Parts: sequence; structure tokens; C-alpha cells
Amino acid sequence: MGNNLTEEINSRKTFAIISHPDAGKTTLTEKLLYFGGAIREAGSIKGKKSSKHATSDWMEIEKQRGISVTSSVMEFQYNDHHINILDTPGHEDFSEDTYRTLTAADSATMLIDAAKGVEAQTEKLFKVCSMRGIPIFTFINKLDRQGRDPFELMEEMENLLGIRSYPMNWPIGMGMDFHGIFDRQTNRLEIYNPTNPSHVEIKETTGPEDPILDELIEPSLLEQFREEIELLDVAGDPYDEDRIINGELTPVFFGSAISNFGVQNFLEHFLRLAPAPVGRESDEGYIHPDRQEFSGFVFKIQANMNPKHRDRIAFLRITSGKYSQAMHVNHVRIGKSMRLAQPTQFLAQDRNIIQEAYAGDIIGLYDPGTFRIGDTLVEKSNFQFAEMPHFSPEHFAVISVKDAMKHKSFEKGLQQLTEEGAVQLFHTFNRYPEQQIIGVVGVLQFEVLEYRLKNEYHADIRLERLPFSIARWVDGENSELEQFKKRQKNLTLDRDGRIVALFDNEFQMRTAQDKYPELTFYENSFLK
Ligand code: GDP
Repeated sequence: MGNNLTEEINSRKTFAIISHPDAGKTTLTEKLLYFGGAIREAGSIKGKKSSKHATSDWMEIEKQRGISVTSSVMEFQYNDHHINILDTPGHEDFSEDTYRTLTAADSATMLIDAAKGVEAQTEKLFKVCSMRGIPIFTFINKLDRQGRDPFELMEEMENLLGIRSYPMNWPIGMGMDFHGIFDRQTNRLEIYNPTNPSHVEIKETTGPEDPILDELIEPSLLEQFREEIELLDVAGDPYDEDRIINGELTPVFFGSAISNFGVQNFLEHFLRLAPAPVGRESDEGYIHPDRQEFSGFVFKIQANMNPKHRDRIAFLRITSGKYSQAMHVNHVRIGKSMRLAQPTQFLAQDRNIIQEAYAGDIIGLYDPGTFRIGDTLVEKSNFQFAEMPHFSPEHFAVISVKDAMKHKSFEKGLQQLTEEGAVQLFHTFNRYPEQQIIGVVGVLQFEVLEYRLKNEYHADIRLERLPFSIARWVDGENSELEQFKKRQKNLTLDRDGRIVALFDNEFQMRTAQDKYPELTFYENSFLK
């Protein structure tokens, strides 16, 4: 039983793809699922650009816009691996959910458009991953088009993200001249065939100097390729799996997701290198995934999966042990025992009722309103996993209810939605009258908030947008903090009474930092 549990857990990989919109995340995900046989035909994941709606678009607002507001999980098998991909919403639907989903991942794949390099959203998501120290793999996409010099892209990753890279394979040419990729570990050449890209011809070689390459690649490109490989060997970082696992070195793969080229090469190395499910810290120490006892934490709550029943689904990352059907668990925060009836798992597009699931898996629990983000469920013990951090919102608005008679249900709704983590709520405290300020990571959350307060709590709201774009949790020595509280404008308190300063822009924030060098300005509520 013990061995079986360990085997099941070790066959799992749970990861997220982080990228800026349009880098090709949907395309790459489709190809990965395709390898696992989870979808028959690529192009069916989400209907964002077509009229078809994928089943992840549960909410009305999603249907109206044809986008996926909240992230979902896709699961597939490849060889003996059981893979869970956490989808991180990216477009207008970028929200705190996107960040929080990353807390459920054990590794991340950073997807970069070769022509665009590291973009704003990639940078934000990268920061959250590096805060957790998880391994980060990089896929540089769209090699079938002319992009930037690969060395320049690696340098940009180092400058903007502070991460060193190790190219696992190296492209030969690009765009019109794209000839393929050369795997530096196996010395295998994968030849790109522009007229039939998914047909990959593979040549085993003895290394970059192998004369067989002279027969396959035109001299000028080959010369350039050999020089580049030499430069990498001499001046690049050495291959180091420990640094990869610690998130200090990112293995880089080149390819073209749309042509399904380089995807399998990536997948196979990824499955070899990416960690099996790792445990999490709790108030009783580190909880190891192999622990027999089932435990997990809620990282996301998605409302209105079924508008008729107005139910919610709480997404739980299993941290240790095994879930078996209808088991009883402790809901530690409220100190009650409950039965986990009919959790669902997410196999590509379908929601399936599951019989069993293991550490590393994500299950969806029916939530009549009993869960909050960060809640711990555990079989027998009473430990709780570390709290979930909040991240700096980027859009702010003063919120009020239009009809004062609806005040009570408005407050109730606001509290519920804050607990779910859909929005953050701040209170002004050095200003009269006191105001409630809503902060969101993505503007679409304002619409979601308005919609849900109206539909679920019958409260029409007024939102008055504010010019701020940055929030910082401020901490420091008491006397300094007191000075700050007296003099600084635009201060608020978060739900837990921590001081949060709001700024219009970076410049304003830096001015405050210069003025109060003794204080620390944190980007998240974890103060780290
Ligand atoms: P997402 O916004 O990151 O999910 O990106 P999509 O997967 O929707 O891709 C954005 C656009 O880039 C689409 O038009 C894709 O067809 C295109 N695209 C994705 N991968 C590639 C690629 O490897 N090469 C080229 N040329 N285009 C690609």
C-alpha cells in the first residue's frame, strides 16, 4: 500500500504554463494534450476565437465574451506519467486567480514568443514562481517565424528575470531558414520540414561536428550553428540539475508549437527533470506528499459553474496521501468533520466524478459556501497549511451600494467575494468619510464583481475608478510606521489590518520609499 502510494505520487507532474497573451499557450497546451491522447483534434480547448464554447466557460460573463475567466485544470497521461496542467488565465481575464494557481504547481513552463522576448505578464508570473523557488522550464516559441537572436533572448531573461539559462536544444536557423533543433544532451538532430512540420525526421549524431550534419545543412547555417554551440559550451552555464530544481537555472527549449515541432522533445525532457509532487509547509512543519494521511489546500474558488444551482467549486490541491471516494476529512479552520462527496477531476474538457486521487492532483469540491481560499482539509490531524498571499492589485475603485436598503446583503456579498479571493477589499483610515476600496489584478474582475453582487446578492453597486496602479504592504519599526501613517497620503488597511499604501505609479512609490528608508514596501501580503 505504502509503495503503491509512493509510486502513484511519483508518476505525477503538476505544472503551470506562464506566458504573456498570444505567446502560444493555448496552442502548446493543445499539442501537449494531443500527445497524451486526451483530445483527438487540436484546436478544441477554448473557444476564445471561435463561436464554440469550451466547457470551462461556465460563467455567464464568460459565455458573453467567449473567454475563460477563471483558470481550470487539464489532466492527461503520457507513457507512465500522470500530468496535471494548471491553466493560468491570461488575457483580459488576468486576475489574482492566475497568481494563486501557481501556488498549486510544482513547476512552471515559461512560454516566450521568440520575436517578442520577455513580456510584462511573463515577468509578473515569473516573480510569483521565483518567490516559491520552483523549477522553471522555458519554451521559446514560433521559431518558424523570424524572431530575435537566441543569445539576446537568454540575456534578456537574465536581465529582466534574474535567471540563468541552459539551452537543452539549439535552433538551426529561424523563420524561412529554420532547419530544426539540435538536442545538446542526446546529440539528436530533429529536422524541420516546412511543408509537413508535424513529420519530424530524427538523425542521431555523434555531436555538432559529426560530418553527417554537412550533408543535411547548408554550409553557412551549419558554420554559424557550430560556432554558437561552441560558444555555449565554453561561455554558457554548465548543465546542473540541482540548480534547475532550485529554480536558479532554466532549461531552455526551442520550437514551434503550432507546427508541433520541438514539443515532444520538450515534453520528454520535462518529464525527466520536473519534480514529482512536493509537499507544503504547515503550522506543524513540512507535510511530505508520501504521508499516508490525505491532506490538501483550497487555492481557488470558482462560482456559478452551474448558474441554475448557483453553486461554487473549490479547487483543492492534494498535498499528501490519497483521496478515496466519500472519505471523511477535517475542515480545520471551522473545526468540523465533513464528507467529501463527488469531487470532480478535469480530464481535458470533461468533468468526471473521481474515485481516487493522489498527492499532486487537483480535485474540484462542491462548495455550498463553506470554503475560503487557503483552507486546509486533512484526514485526521489538525494542521493548517501556510496562508495564501495576496498580490498587489493594479486597478482600484471606490465601491458603494446604490440602494441603501440593500446595504446588508451588499456587505454580505462583498465579504463572501473577498473571502473567495475574487477581489481585495481595503478601507481608508486617514480620510473621512471612510471608504471601501476594491483592488483587482485584472479589470475584468470589476465586471465579475458587479455581475455577481447583482445576481447573487441583489445589490446594484457604484464603482468609481481611482488613479492608483500599485499597492504595497508596508512594514517596519513602530515609530517609523506611526510617522508614515500620519504623513503619507492614500493609506488603507487590508482585511487583516495590515497597512497598505496605494500609489499612482512607480515614481510616486519610489519617492515614498526614499522618504522612508527604514520601512519595507512589500509586493504581497506575505511580506516577503
Ligand atoms: P495564447 O494567447 O498564449 O493562448 O496564444 P495562442 O495559442 O492563442 O496563440 C496566439 C497566436 O499565435 C495564434 O494566432 C496562434 O496560431 C499563433 N501561434 C502559436 N504558436 C505559434 C507558432 O509556433 N508559430 C507561429 N507562427 N504562430 C503561432
